Amino acid sequence: MTHTTLPQHAEHKTPNPYPPRPFSLSPSPPRPIPELPLSPTDRQRTAFRQDLLDWYDEHKRSMPWRETDDPYRIWVAEIMLQQTRVGTVRDYYHRFLEAFPTVGALADAERDEVLKRWEGLGFYARARHLHEAAQRVVEEHDGTVPDTMDAIEDLKGIGPYTAAAVLSIAHQKPHAVLDGNVTRVLSRVFAVEEDATTGTAQRHLRALANELLDPKRAGDFNQAMMELGALVCTPSTPLCDRCPLQNVCRAHDAGMEEDYPITPESEPVPHHDIAVGLVFDDGDRLLIQRRPDEGLLGGLWEFPGGKQEEGESMETACRRELREELGIEVEEVTPFYTLSHAYSHFKITLHAFRGRLADGPPEAREDQPFQWVGIDELGDYAFPRANRRLIEELHRRREEPSLFD
Ligand code: SF4
Repeated sequence: MTHTTLPQHAEHKTPNPYPPRPFSLSPSPPRPIPELPLSPTDRQRTAFRQDLLDWYDEHKRSMPWRETDDPYRIWVAEIMLQQTRVGTVRDYYHRFLEAFPTVGALADAERDEVLKRWEGLGFYARARHLHEAAQRVVEEHDGTVPDTMDAIEDLKGIGPYTAAAVLSIAHQKPHAVLDGNVTRVLSRVFAVEEDATTGTAQRHLRALANELLDPKRAGDFNQAMMELGALVCTPSTPLCDRCPLQNVCRAHDAGMEEDYPITPESEPVPHHDIAVGLVFDDGDRLLIQRRPDEGLLGGLWEFPGGKQEEGESMETACRRELREELGIEVEEVTPFYTLSHAYSHFKITLHAFRGRLADGPPEAREDQPFQWVGIDELGDYAFPRANRRLIEELHRRREEPSLFD
């Protein structure tokens, strides 16, 4: 864990509210949450409510979801913006709302259609949960997105962050958001000496954000905090000279901006080698399989395959996976394409082989149906990004006589 303490001169100004926790292997009873130890001073409160909002009014970026107070549209934007850059979300947001302009339209859509509109945006559980939640809004709330914390948090895929964002931006309800940007800003301004990823620290930071929030402009306040984190109080090299909170920021005062927030040291990212088969039948159609509903990339289609096991060649892994997953044997197996792809918590190298069905037919697992489709029909299905790159390569090489051999 990266742990820093403020130098003496700074510690004297404000006692450290988060003394380091002694390391122990034996489980310790949960500590009661103390009274909020980080009460803002009047000067800090003014800086957050006045200077920050003035800065926001002048510098906020224009975004389509900032031009509406429709809770459904704000909800869609907030779900898309989780783990995804603003620039990427813009196009998806427009296309998604064109297809599903109301919560009712989304509720009525087929799940495959929703996943297809989400294709490429990643974290597909977001789309599945959004779809399920829209159906509940129609069934239980007459198609109106609920406007209370309890009711909105009860919907699938809506946690404290999204609930606070929708309620504050659409209805000006005084609920502060706490995302990575807000965590960073508050950790720096108040020099929070605790691992910011822990539940305790998050509860303290949320309480602090709620104390600072301007109840007259709750939605703008939340967006201003996130905008400041995105544009000025960036993870590295924050632009303190342009920051409206500079005069009340303890980390800046100590010259230790980049030492906050305190976070655990990151683990090395695991890597897996994955073998997949592009299996053709006699009609030159390809075999695709749908992933189980739950879990990573749930409900998306893919070329069948799986992880290489110890001591196996990639070709053997491919043949074994096809046998285990679908009960088929493949002949003329030839390397087709290799690519690398990074997910949020691991990386893969995808080794694709092409081959011809020799013994079948495939047997579908209950929650993983398969289809035979022509290359031109692949665009009708939602695939993960790495598989989409294989499809692009298939299109590029389809004129090669060897592709179907
Ligand atoms: S002064 Fe610097 S470190 Fe402090 S909140 Fe502003 S940008 Fe962040």
